[in-house]
Amino acid sequence: MTLQATDGPIPTTGPLVDTFGRIADDLRVSVTDKCNFRCTYCMPAEGLPWLPREEILRFEEITRLATVFATLGVKEIKLTGGEPTVRRELPSLVAMLRDAQPNLAVSMTTNGYLLDRLAQPLAAAGLDRVTISCDSLMRHHQVLAGMRAAEAAGLTPIKLNCVVIAGTNEDEVVDFARFARDSGYEVRFIEYMPLDAEQHWERAKVVPSRDILAQIDAVFPLTKAGHETEPATSYRFADGAPGAIGVIASVTEPFCDTCNRLRITADGQLRACLFAMHEADLRAPLRSGASDDDIAQIIRTAVWAKWEGHKINHPDFERPARSMSMIGG
Ligand code: SAM
Ligand code: SF4
Repeated sequence: MTLQATDGPIPTTGPLVDTFGRIADDLRVSVTDKCNFRCTYCMPAEGLPWLPREEILRFEEITRLATVFATLGVKEIKLTGGEPTVRRELPSLVAMLRDAQPNLAVSMTTNGYLLDRLAQPLAAAGLDRVTISCDSLMRHHQVLAGMRAAEAAGLTPIKLNCVVIAGTNEDEVVDFARFARDSGYEVRFIEYMPLDAEQHWERAKVVPSRDILAQIDAVFPLTKAGHETEPATSYRFADGAPGAIGVIASVTEPFCDTCNRLRITADGQLRACLFAMHEADLRAPLRSGASDDDIAQIIRTAVWAKWEGHKINHPDFERPARSMSMIGG
């Protein structure tokens, strides 16, 4: 679908809208660029040059931004990273967000490694739910323990994110579906995107979501779930088993025309698209006495300028300077 852009002045009231009429109400906030994992599709084995501490937004700054975004109609904040659980005192941030914005949904995407000890304090601080990334069921007992801890703490419904890469873990897709049925979790398969720091991505390594669904459907027949949890398309098991399957077909079936997401990097830069080539600096105004209204207008201007969509499937596709762990996913 091609979106039609409108002309006109940048709105000063109402929800956060872009020139294509899309409304942004879902914000991902990266709380650190550091990570305790080195998933090959994301970060190099030697890590990346970490941001200096003073460049990272403080909890008070994140909370203030969350309040400004909430007044602009944002309904959900998802904490991400790097790995959000390696940020010290993370439960305090959740408590501050909860206190400032009781009606905002606050969730987190994590690799799950530290959840066995953090699930409880995070839930007590007011976190609503977690998405846990897991690309193989053959490793990471610690991550499985994290899933159980999240469930016990009530951070539900639990979703799992699984990036599928040809020649790596595509043979585990049906095992993941079985795991969804046994655990009751929704397992969401994400197409591999050209955002790995090492730039090893190639199209041949992308396993199309439709192939994943066909593989699962042949063993455990699927029916489309009534609800769409954008950008994932969700399916239930036809035999009524618990759990669900979701696919995020970012490469083969881009969903840019319904994108409602915004992202803030750990150093306070607003990105209107995962693949954006431009960022709006929110940290400088935060630290130089700008009013909430000033910041709101910077945000409105950046959202208004959001482009139609990423160009992964175009010959002139260009990678953004930041790779996934510096954006947050
Ligand atoms: N560390 C946390 C985690 O892994 O959940 C949060 C940050 S991570 C960058 C967010 C999500 O991005 C994860 O689900 C991860 O699997 C996904 N991701 C990372 N690199 C990707 C890539 N090149 N293509 C698709 N998804 C990717
Ligand atoms: Fe893996 Fe998430 Fe860390 Fe990237 S940020 S290396 S996806 S755990």
